Amino acid sequence: HNHIDFATPEKIIAAIKADETHARIPDYETLAAYQATGGYKKLLELRENGEPHQVQETVLASGLRGLGGAGFPSGRKWDFVRAEAGPRYLAVNGDEGEPGTFKDRFHLEREPHMFLEGMLIGAWSIEAETCFIYMRDEYPAVLEILRREIAALEEAGLVEKGYIDLRRGAGAYICGEESAMIESIEGKRGMPRHRPPFVAQVGIFGRPTLVHNVETLYWVGKICREGPEIFSSVEKNGRIGLRNYSVSGRVKNPGVYLLPAGSTITDVIAACGGMLDGHSLKAYQPGGPSSGLLPASMADVPLDFDTLQPHGTFIGSAAVVVLSDHDSARDAALNMLRFFEDESCGQCTPCRVGCEKAVKLMQAKSWDQDLLEELSNAMIDTSICGLGQAAPNPIRLTIKHFPDEI
Ligand code: SF4
Repeated sequence: HNHIDFATPEKIIAAIKADETHARIPDYETLAAYQATGGYKKLLELRENGEPHQVQETVLASGLRGLGGAGFPSGRKWDFVRAEAGPRYLAVNGDEGEPGTFKDRFHLEREPHMFLEGMLIGAWSIEAETCFIYMRDEYPAVLEILRREIAALEEAGLVEKGYIDLRRGAGAYICGEESAMIESIEGKRGMPRHRPPFVAQVGIFGRPTLVHNVETLYWVGKICREGPEIFSSVEKNGRIGLRNYSVSGRVKNPGVYLLPAGSTITDVIAACGGMLDGHSLKAYQPGGPSSGLLPASMADVPLDFDTLQPHGTFIGSAAVVVLSDHDSARDAALNMLRFFEDESCGQCTPCRVGCEKAVKLMQAKSWDQDLLEELSNAMIDTSICGLGQAAPNPIRLTIKHFPDEI
């Protein structure tokens, strides 16, 4: 945004209009470069004489699970959607609003076609009438890359014009929740729906909809092209597969690191070149603010789906934030709840009022633990969606692991 003159709103609008992308476009793999290494051959083969069940079995054999946060086995959803009468849709969740998560951006700014081919394979397997890509508007470079490359796909005759419908999000965290995203795609206020019915049955405009995260589809593309072994042959600490950790905080080299799914925080920090000089590990957020904070004493737990459940948390989208002895766990937890207070869609009372009350209680000199526990139980039991149900995690984990701070 450096070139924009911020003197007046008119000047800002004029500058943006003059250069609609207002983004530095990184070097990325274009359609021609992707096709030069065999890109889209798999899709064309499948369209020619493929069997949806075979592709699904390949994806299931890889062990790939949904990388948006929920971890549902990828491929299994395809059955649910196919079982419903068409027309069907595919929707890509590219909202990536979880603080600390930037893996989808990483892939899209480098290899957009690996994702697009994975998406088109998924769409082919459920005979989707349209693919919607719901993309975070805070990623202007990604939006521009997708605009260019979708046009290139249309030009090359790989998709019909209009088959891929690129939609811009408007900055609401809750629109990363799949049913709120669908409401937003329909042009409504983004508020999560009650389930059942599930979006696989009643999704966009009431039609069966397959929803996948960007990175999941990137791996679908890669696994279909290179075989399930690229994922399933990696084993560490008894865990199978690979995981892209988005790492930030007090490490030497923050970034996206592709590591075995059984990696611990010790492995993740080592991949980042270690802690910043003068800092020692105090706590870490394993998977976004909904996952709260774990203490340094739990540095040997594999950061994978299921492994964190016994500890009252989860890996989510693997947004790892590293805190050091210079940081306050209490302040970090309060910051997380402030975020949820801001981002609650306001639809249900336990979340809307609960987040606000929690922030007030956490600002007190010493925390009223009984009241916070009662509030947490009410929020977990009665909130409509994952935001309100998981918001108490930072409260509970801070009470458990950092009692001397509260
Ligand atoms: Fe909205 Fe929060 Fe209720 Fe989810 S839990 S529906 S974000 S108010």
